[in-house]
Amino acid sequence: MENSEAVAFELNEASVNQAGETDPSPVQVRSLKELLDRITGRGVMTQPLAEDSGLAEILPFPFLALVGQHEMKLALLLSLINPMVGGVLLIGPRGTGKTTAVRSLADLLPEALRSLCYYGCLPEDIESSGIDAVCPDCARKFAEGEQLVKMDRVRIVELPLNSALEDVIGGVDERAASHNRFRLNKGLLAQADRNLLYVDEVNLLQDDVVDALLDAAAQGKYTVRRSPMAATYHSRFVLIGSMNPEEGSLRPQIMDRFGLRVIVRGLEATEERLEAYRRVQAYLSHPHQTVEQFASETRIAQAEIQAARELLPEVKLPEEVAQNGLRLINNLQIDSLRAEITLFEAARACAAADHRLAVTQDDLRLVAPMALRQRRSKFIKDFFKLQDAEEKELTAVLEGIFQGSNAG
Ligand SMILES: [Zn+2]
Repeated sequence: MENSEAVAFELNEASVNQAGETDPSPVQVRSLKELLDRITGRGVMTQPLAEDSGLAEILPFPFLALVGQHEMKLALLLSLINPMVGGVLLIGPRGTGKTTAVRSLADLLPEALRSLCYYGCLPEDIESSGIDAVCPDCARKFAEGEQLVKMDRVRIVELPLNSALEDVIGGVDERAASHNRFRLNKGLLAQADRNLLYVDEVNLLQDDVVDALLDAAAQGKYTVRRSPMAATYHSRFVLIGSMNPEEGSLRPQIMDRFGLRVIVRGLEATEERLEAYRRVQAYLSHPHQTVEQFASETRIAQAEIQAARELLPEVKLPEEVAQNGLRLINNLQIDSLRAEITLFEAARACAAADHRLAVTQDDLRLVAPMALRQRRSKFIKDFFKLQDAEEKELTAVLEGIFQGSNAG
């Protein structure tokens, strides 16, 4: 514990030195939210810099260097703090920075307990479903008191649009098969276990891939059968999707899978657009120096996310806040049960990010638009309306007949 505090202090010191030229006051970051606001307003150096090796493609754009887009950034951070939020869907036209934002999370990813086993077995599987819930090897290790997990950095696994079902769920290992050995390959969904799974243009995925994705998301695991073999893989991921609504709609089942939904629009203010342009130019011509300019704040943000994750289990939802949340859902006529899970879990993540142990009405208010928009299904609303009309008609006919028979 002492150790990690010392690291945090050092990071603060480093950012004082770096920001010293433009901002003489020491950096006092009280919370992640504050850090986001502070960085958004800061300019980057536009002075000519030494030659850079130009590795922009493998070096992600710094998350903190993204200008504006507050709701998108907040939604992504909340999903890193609390996987129970259920992922994020970014909806907006091309060129609004959706993909850049998701990829730029790479430097902020927290650590989580990761299974040491190929099939992703965890001790909590044994606690909840007994020893048969894990593979025989892990069952033996557990019995002998051996470790099943270690701390490891969460990763971003991308599911490309053109992925075949075989790549997504895994299939027969062709190389092994050519040597007359039969082996199954691990698919993307298994690689995404305990990681972020990012699907760009999620509305254009093939139907069979969507079905596999929905299956894994609902169960947290899936089974591949290729006679004579079968394998079950764990697949508990945070789903992040982006889509351009002009290119097609999203099936309601997969829409409901995403916890938070953010409408991403282009920047409106001229100064913001200009600053965004400057930062992108700086990054494209000198990626290393640009990333370096945000490095100390990035380290602080990463430590804050990790700390928020550790605080999260202790964050409580007071009764009066919960009641207000339920009233909100009721008044908006939302049926999906996932709405309140997302609403309350996002609000808890918000409190944790702010180092608080209780959710406030303000937390709820902040996350409600992201958690509740696009939750109302027009089909279900129309269905209930028709149903109500039919019930009334039915009651009237029944009353007419039975009152008539009573009188007679
Ligand atoms: Zn195992």
